[in-house]
Amino acid sequence: MTDMTPMLDCDAVMRQLWDYIDGELTEERMAAIRAHLVLCARCQPQHEFERTFLKTLAQVRSEHSNPGSVRERVMAALHNEGFVAA
Ligand SMILES: [Zn+2]
Repeated sequence: MTDMTPMLDCDAVMRQLWDYIDGELTEERMAAIRAHLVLCARCQPQHEFERTFLKTLAQVRSEHSNPGSVRERVMAALHNEGFVAA
């Protein structure tokens, strides 16, 4: 059988999460990680965090041209989303 999806453990998912969010993995791998994220309570929040982080970063970059303030703005935005502890 070639359509068997290998079981991914959490560490494997975490390692590939950025590439997954960027859509840079193979179809098979994207599907395997997607399936894992649906079921795994441990990886779900991490996925949410990284997706929000990238989205926020993109927004900040498109809105502001001062690179020195990007980090602060991202951290503030993430804090507003409830992701970063005060
Ligand atoms: Zn997991």
